[in-house]
Amino acid sequence: MFFLAFVERLFRPTFKKVGDDLVLGKKLGEGAFGVVYRASLAKKPSSKVPYQKEGDLVLKKATEYGAVEIWMNERVRRACANSCADFVHGFLENSSKKGAEYWLIWRYEGEATLYDLMQSKEFPYNVETMMLREVQDLPRGLERENRIIQTIMRQLLFALDGLHSTGIVHRDFKPQNIIFSEGSRTFKIIDLGAAADLRVGINYIPKEFLLDPRYAAPEQYIMSTQTPSAPSAPVATALSPVLWQMNLPDRFDIYSAGLIFLQMAFSGLRSDSALIQFNRQLKRCDFDLNAWRKSIEPRASSDLRKGFELLDLDGGIGWELLTSMVRYKAGQRISAKGALAHPYFDREGLLVLSLMQ
Ligand code: ADP
Ligand code: MG
Repeated sequence: MFFLAFVERLFRPTFKKVGDDLVLGKKLGEGAFGVVYRASLAKKPSSKVPYQKEGDLVLKKATEYGAVEIWMNERVRRACANSCADFVHGFLENSSKKGAEYWLIWRYEGEATLYDLMQSKEFPYNVETMMLREVQDLPRGLERENRIIQTIMRQLLFALDGLHSTGIVHRDFKPQNIIFSEGSRTFKIIDLGAAADLRVGINYIPKEFLLDPRYAAPEQYIMSTQTPSAPSAPVATALSPVLWQMNLPDRFDIYSAGLIFLQMAFSGLRSDSALIQFNRQLKRCDFDLNAWRKSIEPRASSDLRKGFELLDLDGGIGWELLTSMVRYKAGQRISAKGALAHPYFDREGLLVLSLMQ
């Protein structure tokens, strides 16, 4: 494949042995396409290491899809650095016993993903503590929870808007791929392994098998199947923005972001099994959230009732935003930019963030 060859040529000569200078720590994750470790630099790294000052690192050893992930991270670093975890370096490592592997290095952002934080009974107050250091004086309750969730959603949409404005669709947007950065005390996106860069056509053909069915929008593919002759290799830049307009592929991520919003509001939907069950129910309602609500509310558990109450605050503005994100037709979903301008994010209600400190 042209693109792999390109990346190989780009990285092989200079950084062939850079991997020798890394000391691996704890394994952080293992997927079908790579293994992720905490890492640090060797005490005396050789002079050719291009990331001498970085401190704690994260290393992903990836299969052939690592090439695309390197491409995406390089692009993000140049175009919308704040959206994603700080990318340090990516290269092809040939010395491993298994043959060629792509190695990707990021700065270690922190220990908790949004998924980890949502599994705690303390959510969303645990997030508030991490963002503000000092806990607010306000009494615990729906209003305060809603404010914290607003702040998280705003950060997620802001990061997504950065990616989308750059021409990148993430396609695997889920709590496991959102890391809390202890440095900036904000959430950042990670794992661009399934992302597509539509401006230059990288990874244009959707790899459905990379998508997580729990968070995937019903269309499953970022492009409608009617798109004429989808190119399989990098394609002329001029074509892509038009396709972007026609098909609104960014709305794939918006659907996933809506499901994350839903899980934050409804504690009873945070587990994998509950989300899978919800997806089944929503499908039965033809992906109409209002119909789902009608079917579920009369016999709702107290957990679910609390979620509806939270989204109904301020005249139901949260519910309105949620229903404009989780829709069957991509074209009817709000964009990340549109969502950020939604009255749900009325500035008054938002948590004052670390910027103030
Ligand atoms: P995978 O392909 O295995 O899903 P990810 O890129 O999502 O790979 O990383 C796996 C896990 O490693 C994440 O869920 C997160 O816990 C951790 N991780 C990844 N990148 C970072 C980072 N920059 N800082 C801290 N932890 C990270
Ligand atoms: Mg991941």
